[in-house]
Amino acid sequence: MEKSTYKKLMKIMEIQNQYDPKLRKIISKNNTIALIPLGSIEQHGAHLPISTDSDIVFKISQILATKCNLMVLPTLRYGCSSEHAPYFNISLQPNTLKTMLIDICTSLHRNNINKIIILNGHYGNKKYITKLETKIKIPKLKINVFSYWDFMDNRMDHGGFVETSLMLAISDKTKMSDARKGVIIDDLRGTKLLQCKKKLAGSFPAVTKNGVIGDPTIANIAAGQKIMREIVKNFIYFINLNH
Ligand SMILES: [Zn+2]
Repeated sequence: MEKSTYKKLMKIMEIQNQYDPKLRKIISKNNTIALIPLGSIEQHGAHLPISTDSDIVFKISQILATKCNLMVLPTLRYGCSSEHAPYFNISLQPNTLKTMLIDICTSLHRNNINKIIILNGHYGNKKYITKLETKIKIPKLKINVFSYWDFMDNRMDHGGFVETSLMLAISDKTKMSDARKGVIIDDLRGTKLLQCKKKLAGSFPAVTKNGVIGDPTIANIAAGQKIMREIVKNFIYFINLNH
């Protein structure tokens, strides 16, 4: 694809770049699917910015929108990440997050968009964003909720190999000289893994002293690009099956 065409497409797919009434015409002509990237703000070790989850999920959403003809909404950059305290985080209460998503989806429905995909980029949000449809109770409105790691083979980490590689691939914000190995949980299975996840959900610092899960020191751009391709490929497979 020509670079200029790609730029044009990116513009078309982002709702914040649209103008009314043309936007309403686009929506009425097409079976528009809205994509809501959901991020968070919290520590990701000394080498990654606090915006990491929001940055990654927005980049993935931009690519998916272009490939799958979706309309990307502005990223919701606040999530539920108080489990990182006393390390830095700006957190919503779970009910606030749920209410925001319900309000956005309901409003999209009022604007004739009835297919919505929420793409989550922060593990701590996950348990609060399920079953939104049952709360909204609009039969016409279909909401699919995913986390981007649902579409990749690697196990998700926090500021480790996966997130650091993805950030290297999509931005210049990573400070590799500050990257330090964190707690490695790749070998944990079954009950031990569940116990570790439970502990992490309560207090991140109780499990990892530098705020990192995984090993960012081995992260690299090529790995990030590979993971990104995998997510996009698997997502396209899903869209073709379901829409
Ligand atoms: Zn993260």
